[in-house]
Amino acid sequence: MDSFVWQGTPSRVVFGWGALAQLPDEIGRLGARRALVLSTPDQRALAEHVADALGARAAGVHAQAVMHVPVEVAHAARDAAVALDADCCVAVGGGSTIGLGKAIALTSSLPIVAVPTTYAGSEMTPIYGLTEGRLKRTGRDARVLPRTVIYDPALTVSLPVAISAASGVNAMAHAVEALYAEDANSIVSLMAQESIRALGEALPVLVHTPADRTARSRALYGAWLAGSCLGAVGMALHHKLCHTLGGTFNLPHAQTHAAMLPHTAHYNHAAAPEALAAVARALGGEQAQDAGALLFALNRALGLPIALDDIGMVEAGLDEAAALACENPYANPRPVERQAIRALLQRAWEGAAPA
Ligand code: NAD
Repeated sequence: MDSFVWQGTPSRVVFGWGALAQLPDEIGRLGARRALVLSTPDQRALAEHVADALGARAAGVHAQAVMHVPVEVAHAARDAAVALDADCCVAVGGGSTIGLGKAIALTSSLPIVAVPTTYAGSEMTPIYGLTEGRLKRTGRDARVLPRTVIYDPALTVSLPVAISAASGVNAMAHAVEALYAEDANSIVSLMAQESIRALGEALPVLVHTPADRTARSRALYGAWLAGSCLGAVGMALHHKLCHTLGGTFNLPHAQTHAAMLPHTAHYNHAAAPEALAAVARALGGEQAQDAGALLFALNRALGLPIALDDIGMVEAGLDEAAALACENPYANPRPVERQAIRALLQRAWEGAAPA
């Protein structure tokens, strides 16, 4: 057996339909008394409902989270936390809101209770991102890892079907790359396969019946496992490419991950055969099948945009994207070659099947 290093993340996870009701007790466990509730402007009503439920334990609502945590948005949130004398943050929402909580924690060390309402997985990682101008800077810091995560699948029912599907495949991407990560280990690989299985079963159900309780629960369970993988091991080509496309070309986060995943899985197929066979099996296919082809078929079945052209990428940017993705590449099973990446991007842009 290969040698490995395993370090579990010290977060407490509370999972279950209606688990949001446990928030006051969970804040009490942290010894906190004044929680600042964070959300996006779209989710203000939910944040206010949460603050009402907290009663005297709520310091206020700050509904200003936006995608990619611009530094000025982070500064305003830090100022609000100080002005309201908050001693913890409750981030209710997707990766953008949890990212704002992390930006506050980075300088204040305020503990975060995360209540995720998408499948992005940020709640399980010590990774933060801050955007200044066109440049998104990411880093790892133990202070930004949420201390408690409350997964309540009931809160995901309102997530529109198209975003649910894209966000679910975004989660799956963490699990796929965990299987061939440079620092992969057996526990993370088990979590990754279970994550892909759960998401692969749940997503096709919930695009047809968005309120299906079992599918919503199973999708969020898969997302928890995927987020755990993302927090535990290093990511590879797929995340580097999506980071480039999102950061430099401002493409939508989850949809970009979904459109790219079949292509990046296919790219690594021959270089990481065991990992990709595990992906194929977890998706219900034969282990000899190309995981990229199975992921492409899944995207189609979920009605997701499969062409980068359809989510705002300009063809004239593909050369720059390939060049940027090949600069300081993340460790990847197959060498990251500029010509091959350019060809991959062309197929992804056109919406062609991976080849
Ligand atoms: P998001 O948080 O931007 O949410 C997308 C939209 O959906 C928002 O308008 C939000 O208000 C809305 N929404 C969220 N949940 C909803 C619900 N249940 N019902 C109705 N509307 C809902 O999207 P995301 O994909 O979750 O997060 C993307 C961001 O997270 C990116 O900036 C990405 O870089 C970051 N991220 C960071 C990490 C990390 O480890 N640091 C991991 C994954 C993603």
